[in-house]
Amino acid sequence: MHELAALRAWMVREQLAARGIEAPLVLAAMRKVPREAFIPARLRARAYEDAPLPIAAGQTISQPYIVALMIQALALRGGESVLEIGTGSGYAAAVLAQIAGQVCTVERIGALADAAAATLAGLGYGNVQVRHADGSQGWPGQAPYDAIIVTAGGPEIPPSLKAQLKIGGRLVMPVGASPHAQALICLTRHAGDVFSREVLADVRFVPLIGAEAWPEADSPPQPRRG
Ligand code: SAM
Repeated sequence: MHELAALRAWMVREQLAARGIEAPLVLAAMRKVPREAFIPARLRARAYEDAPLPIAAGQTISQPYIVALMIQALALRGGESVLEIGTGSGYAAAVLAQIAGQVCTVERIGALADAAAATLAGLGYGNVQVRHADGSQGWPGQAPYDAIIVTAGGPEIPPSLKAQLKIGGRLVMPVGASPHAQALICLTRHAGDVFSREVLADVRFVPLIGAEAWPEADSPPQPRRG
């Protein structure tokens, strides 16, 4: 077996399954997607570390365990329409694309959106559409979605995203009063305005910056001391 494929199988076993990720579709998807293709060439030997890694434009590719935890919480069965906010490298979009029917992903930094679209196309992910825009307002043209995943932290769940979620659908997002520390929230839409929420974990994501998130001028503010 190729060395990186062996490391990927080890990552799924030791970092995901051993820590309680059980969803067979998520484990199978993460066994397939080559994380090394989504990170800078100089970091490829570290592709299966149990950590986030830097990508271009000061952003990050999330820790594999957190990607798996978030996607598992969406409770996908296969074939769904999924919206991702925060394309970054495109890695989570690729994992989603292994499970869902259609993935729409939005990134506010144009260079990252372009690079991710090229990586995803190069790997043959024809069911992912990448858009360069402020994702805090969702992607109304493709709504509603069976599931929404936000991979950057905001002060609250943007109303536009709640409105673009189907009844019965789930939304997973890091939410916190500080742009640097959040609770990972899973929101379920039961009826028009009826939502329930569950806290999954404490997390530290880069800030979600946009009209329904942290303002650009203030971002990233320093945590208050004292
Ligand atoms: N899902 C990504 C991956 O698999 O590589 C990791 C995403 S990274 C932790 C968060 C991303 O959210 C960054 O690329 C950042 O530019 C993006 N972002 C922040 N605010 C955004 C917004 N309003 N709309 C879209 N993307 C945003």
